[in-house]
Amino acid sequence: MKIAVCVSHVPDTAAKINVGSDEKSIDNNGVSFIINPYDEYAVEEALKTKEALGGEVVVISLGGDEVKETIRKALAMGADSGVLLKKEGYFDSYATATALAEELKAQNAEMVFFGKQSIDFDSGVVGQMVAEMLGYNSVSVVVDLKIEGDNIRAEREIEGGKEVVETTLPAVITAQKGLNEPRYASLRGIMQAKKKTIEEKEAQTGDSRVELLKMRKPAPKAPGKILGSDASVVPELVRLLKEEAKVI
Ligand SMILES: Cc1cc2nc3c(=O)[nH]c(=O)nc-3n(C[C@H](O)[C@H](O)[C@H](O)COP(=O)(O)OP(=O)(O)OC[C@H]3O[C@@H](n4cnc5c(N)ncnc54)[C@H](O)[C@@H]3O)c2cc1C
Repeated sequence: MKIAVCVSHVPDTAAKINVGSDEKSIDNNGVSFIINPYDEYAVEEALKTKEALGGEVVVISLGGDEVKETIRKALAMGADSGVLLKKEGYFDSYATATALAEELKAQNAEMVFFGKQSIDFDSGVVGQMVAEMLGYNSVSVVVDLKIEGDNIRAEREIEGGKEVVETTLPAVITAQKGLNEPRYASLRGIMQAKKKTIEEKEAQTGDSRVELLKMRKPAPKAPGKILGSDASVVPELVRLLKEEAKVI
């Protein structure tokens, strides 16, 4: 079975992010990048699927040359080959999905894994858009997956519980934390990844549907107020909660 996994290259969760001078992008200075954490679950599930059912795993990412670092991470975990869909500059989730769907069609991938969400732009839509573009079945936010023949049984995380669903291949699955425990890349895996092929192609994104107008950081929080430490401050506290905070 041809298994594909789509991964995004995102700022490290610990990085301090500043908006760039164009107010439409982030300032990359001093920011380190990592594989999107939800995509690590997607890569692990793709590898487990290959180990159980056979086939090969191709990793696909859209972006500039720097994205190769993230593709290599997935190759070091055990994926067989990588594809970099090259594109610099402005593109939205729809354009991203368009480019990925084109490549997945060319790859004839039957089983496609995504993370549930990319932690940079946080849209949580690319996997479902790709499924629609390919006419594939799709299950999102998956925490348990079983594949038998063409049949898929998945558990999804929902508010306060789990939902069990069934569908069939070909399908798109988006991975939630808890789906598995992503393996660490071994030293051998890291060495082997250097020899694995990353094919480079020009991304066919088409046009974006959403225009990014401006980015800004949240306003700094107002400092807290200490009114005092005995019961005499209660009337003032009640007044502030009513009139300023407007929470009572
Ligand atoms: C309005 C707008 C403007 C943007 N402008 C730029 C820009 O100028 N430059 C720039 O570099 N980025 C830009 N981006 C972000 C870039 O296009 C994102 O990679 C893309 O939008 C995916 O983020 P998302 O939040 O939509 O993904 P989600 O829908 O949250 O991602 C879900 C899953 O889709 C997969 N996925 C997401 N992105 C990729 C990818 N690139 N390659 C492979 N798999 C992927 C991953 O499996 C991920 O877990 C922009 C995004 C938006 C919304």
